[in-house]
Amino acid sequence: MSRVFSGIQPSGQAHLGNYAGALANWVRLQDEYECFYCVVDYHAVTQPYEAADLAGRTLDMAVSVLAAGVDPEKATLFVQSAVPEHTELAWLFNCVTPLGELERQTQFKDKASRNRKNITAGLLDYPVLQAADILLYKGELVPVGEDQVQHLELSREIARRFNARFGEVFPEPQALLTGAKRILGLDGQAKMSKSLGNTVDMLATPEEIWDALRPAVTDTARVRLKDPGDPEVCNVFTIHQSFTPEEKRDELAAACRAGEIGCIDCKKVLAENLDAALAPIRERYRQLSEKPDEVRQILAAGAERCRGVAREVLGEAREAMGFLAPGE
Ligand code: ATP
Ligand code: MG
Repeated sequence: MSRVFSGIQPSGQAHLGNYAGALANWVRLQDEYECFYCVVDYHAVTQPYEAADLAGRTLDMAVSVLAAGVDPEKATLFVQSAVPEHTELAWLFNCVTPLGELERQTQFKDKASRNRKNITAGLLDYPVLQAADILLYKGELVPVGEDQVQHLELSREIARRFNARFGEVFPEPQALLTGAKRILGLDGQAKMSKSLGNTVDMLATPEEIWDALRPAVTDTARVRLKDPGDPEVCNVFTIHQSFTPEEKRDELAAACRAGEIGCIDCKKVLAENLDAALAPIRERYRQLSEKPDEVRQILAAGAERCRGVAREVLGEAREAMGFLAPGE
């Protein structure tokens, strides 16, 4: 059975992009595959953050992932820093990764440009740690949003280079996208991102959802109600793709193209559907938040299960690279 790996950073609250672009697929895949899902706290420290908040945010993100529907009976949920093999494999991969490939990663360039004064080696190295995260479990399928596709290409390149140099150890992982692979922030400018603060949180109340959606940018070429709109270029329509059943969506798209429905009415349908999907997540989040010890136990059991696999795969990689085995 193919293994699935994916991660989410505890860099803020999970938002609609995280949910529709990635978490919805995490939930779907857990019935069919052996899945490893990770709160990637080592990735979250590559950007400015408050040390006093990190542990709390990490636990809170685990609660959010469980609330979104990840079932610890079906999938392994854990915290990255609890499995030290991730950073050890990342070091091995550092030594087969060309520097130039890291420097041309779009996400590095974006995040570095926002924080010119403090660009760390960690930020540059992020995709190598990500390759280690996935390949430590020989992950083949990686449910992510479109922003991660370039990193996945690099993961494949790293696997190829390692295998070519040291023998066949790793598979080449593939990104798995949803229909909402790139949700924009509601200003329609950049990708919705925890670190940009342009989000609608997955845990938003109906009032918060509507306050965010009402002024959201749609098809900017559409000025008056009767102007024909283009759902293909409308960010709100992208969100419909994850929350509105296909038939209703086709109806809305046709009415938009014919100038028969205004953006506010289209957003009202979306707000209702969003709330229907998110209300049970909010409720599960509320219940789980009252049981942090239970969540910690789930994470501890997850990390334990991971370490079994991680030690084995890291051992294979070390052996292939010719290291002296410990104890020899
Ligand atoms: P940060 O701004 O700190 O990088 P983020 O919002 O990009 O946070 P991540 O934790 O980096 O969230 O990503 C978690 C998952 O959500 C990844 O699979 C990523 O591809 C996906 N994702 C993030 N933003 C979007 C988006 N706007 N649309 C679709 N998928 C997204
Ligand atoms: Mg991100």
